[in-house]
Amino acid sequence: MSEKKVITIDGPAASGKSSTAQMVAERLGFLHVDSGSLYRAATAAALRVVPDPAEWTEEVVLGAARAISLLPARSSFYPVMGGRSVEEEIRGDRVTANVSAVAKMPRVRDWVNETVRNTSADHNVVVDGRDIGTVVFPKARLKIFLVADAEVRAKRRLIQKAGEVTDARLAEETRALLERDERDASQTVPAADAVVVDSTILTQAEQVAKIVALAEDRA
Ligand code: C5P
Repeated sequence: MSEKKVITIDGPAASGKSSTAQMVAERLGFLHVDSGSLYRAATAAALRVVPDPAEWTEEVVLGAARAISLLPARSSFYPVMGGRSVEEEIRGDRVTANVSAVAKMPRVRDWVNETVRNTSADHNVVVDGRDIGTVVFPKARLKIFLVADAEVRAKRRLIQKAGEVTDARLAEETRALLERDERDASQTVPAADAVVVDSTILTQAEQVAKIVALAEDRA
């Protein structure tokens, strides 16, 4: 069996990694894997079992995460708990506020990394996250590091949440994003061989076209 192809897309919160990775995967006929969705699912699972995050230990989170599986669908892998999709639950504000603490737990990181690596056993994959090109797939054929101005990221996030973009909301969303960047900084480092793509002034279609062209060049 030929070795499966892996493209990694890393970068800070709300830099457009997941939507870009999804579109690149669709264009190339690969499957998209969102590693952040596993950290989020572990956080949601822990919230179900122990509602107060102050009481979480690594054992509590890992125990809760046992209920999670990552399943392949048409163009992406998605996490399920008890046979049900948890997509809406894992995007909630409580999960977002607590996920960085869960992502600091070394054994949780091991669990996510192994689960993510397993997806490439049978599929060509586009994987997005923070440390995918450095830690999870250091030998990936193409590594992208996606960046964008904090305010541009915050505005996109507000639009995605279908909220009105007022000055006050934009300031609050930018502050929350910068705080999460700070908490995630240690694992959000570009690989030495990553191509840095700045999406501040690119449309999503332009970003996707650029990454697909790079992937085709290296094929
Ligand atoms: O990508 P997303 O923002 O959904 O990820 C949620 C959280 O999961 C991040 O804030 C970060 O704490 C963690 N994460 C990580 N390493 C990854 C992907 C996500 O630490 N590869």
